[in-house]
Amino acid sequence: MTELRLGIDIGGTKILGVLCDPADPGAPVAVQRASTPGDVDAVVDALVAVIEALRLRAAELGHTVRGIGLGVPGVVDRSGVLRGAPNLRCAIDQPLRDRIEAAVHAPVLIENDANCALWAEAELGAGRGAADLVMVALGTGIGGAVMIDGRLRIGAHGFAGEPGHMVVERDGVLCPCGRHGCWERYASGAGLAWLAQRAVQHAQESGTGESGRGESGAGESGEMLLRLAGGDPAAIRGEHVTTAADAADPMALEVFEEFARWVAIGIGSIINILDPELVLVGGGLVEHSRHYLHRVGELLPAEVLGAGRHRPTPVVAASLGPMAGAIGAALLAGTEHRLR
Ligand SMILES: [Zn+2]
Repeated sequence: MTELRLGIDIGGTKILGVLCDPADPGAPVAVQRASTPGDVDAVVDALVAVIEALRLRAAELGHTVRGIGLGVPGVVDRSGVLRGAPNLRCAIDQPLRDRIEAAVHAPVLIENDANCALWAEAELGAGRGAADLVMVALGTGIGGAVMIDGRLRIGAHGFAGEPGHMVVERDGVLCPCGRHGCWERYASGAGLAWLAQRAVQHAQESGTGESGRGESGAGESGEMLLRLAGGDPAAIRGEHVTTAADAADPMALEVFEEFARWVAIGIGSIINILDPELVLVGGGLVEHSRHYLHRVGELLPAEVLGAGRHRPTPVVAASLGPMAGAIGAALLAGTEHRLR
């Protein structure tokens, strides 16, 4: 009989639960999925149902569960309460952990999802062996996590490691956080969409002024991106850009060049503050890293103070994929490592 660890990653749309054997946590012995409901009572019910299903599975396999971890998409204060979560607003300020603990009669660790993912990558994935590392998770927004001397740093209030809201353009694009020009408005999936929308609109405007030059090619006019978005530039999404870039569409590749510049600006600032051994890039956009990550590496020296005085800080794709958050939550719950 093994004491398995249970980890859950709750996102804005999906809940992913895993059951891990501490001897080989990278390959979960069971996986349970659910969709994320829209109100907090239903969220608690859904999380409890995922926990109960995985416990049942553990019992069927002849094992027990020790340690339940929950990764959440937002900032968690030192008392374990979610205080900011643009994609899980219904759970903000709610005693999520207490309610789940009462329902499942076991302690539950609650932690920021990027912190969980970084922990898993540091233990098992692309960050293994590093003690000073930073993760930036490029998804709809940008998540982040910081490890110094082998410990996750969560800050005085638990809110540390949110590089997505460092302002990189004072009068820039409005962010859901209320400020303008946050890094995640440019270097996330939403940012990729915005850069593409802007590029296509510019191409359309200049295209009408230069009629008669038809040989510039469909790509440069953004035709493919427009077609994917149903003809409306404002409807271009991040996945349209990745699809077009996979087909070597010139406009999409140009958008990715611009995207790489924004990613490099932010990562350069992070390196200037923390001087990590390694920066891990995770999140949904890591699947498309071939379109930008090598360019980020080329652009980075110009953003980093003292570059050239030491070997360049590697910027590496996270390796555990979409299960990293759930696996990290399981690992954190089952250890005595204190974060706070
Ligand atoms: Zn912001």
